[in-house]
Amino acid sequence: MISIHELGLRYPDGTAAIDGLSAQIRLQEFVSVVGPSGCGKSTLLKLLAGLLDSSTGTLHIAGSSPAAARAAGHDIAYVFQSPTLLPWRSVTDNVALPLELRGVEASVRQARAAGLIRLVGLEDFAAARPGQLSGGMQMRASLARALVTQPALILLDEPFGALDEITRQYLNEELMRLWLDQRWTAVLVTHNVYEAVFLSQRVLVMGPRPGTIIGEYRVDFPYPRAPALRADPRFGALAAGISARLREAME
Ligand code: ADP
Repeated sequence: MISIHELGLRYPDGTAAIDGLSAQIRLQEFVSVVGPSGCGKSTLLKLLAGLLDSSTGTLHIAGSSPAAARAAGHDIAYVFQSPTLLPWRSVTDNVALPLELRGVEASVRQARAAGLIRLVGLEDFAAARPGQLSGGMQMRASLARALVTQPALILLDEPFGALDEITRQYLNEELMRLWLDQRWTAVLVTHNVYEAVFLSQRVLVMGPRPGTIIGEYRVDFPYPRAPALRADPRFGALAAGISARLREAME
């Protein structure tokens, strides 16, 4: 679905964020990207979203540029670390916002939003304002909003980075369940190697800026993955191997 060849991005101030990055991501695949801070992970997601244009190389989504892929109906959703919910709107109206912006009729968008809100377990808070929700619940609402347009591709930029470890694990399990149910293609940027291994079919490791892929790890544990997988020695060994590669790259 995504084909990246020798991609490079230089910001106007001359900072080379990414250079010579190549990768392939299959339709419906769940891929994580880990790498040191400032290595260009967010930049890569912005390029995938079509929010930035590459300086060199090519990036194709379903055979076209991100903008053309979007226009052709391959919707791309973006989830940020901060949930970016509108504080004055209810959870339902936040989740329905992307549909409202597309001019979807009120009854249809309310029904779609209600379905997603149920899916992320927020049905008792549908009328609440974001300020009344915990950080984890806000992130659930944010995920529901990203999914409401039934996107083909979801880009997740450290979505659980601000949450405590237990909430993060819980939301990892929830995200896995949503992915198994809906099977969008997912690209998750994270600092957390355990999160990457728990969720992904493949983990890509980026080296220091200008970022490029310096390692690729296949994760073969079958889905659905149980919380107990985190205590499995094979899980620990794989995470340790990825961490070692990251450390090596930073030395
Ligand atoms: P990561 O997500 O891996 O932490 P980023 O993609 O955010 O890294 O940033 C990669 C590099 O590009 C960093 O050195 C950052 O300071 C720089 N950078 C990010 N955005 C801009 C910008 N708009 N202008 C100039 N440099 C930028």
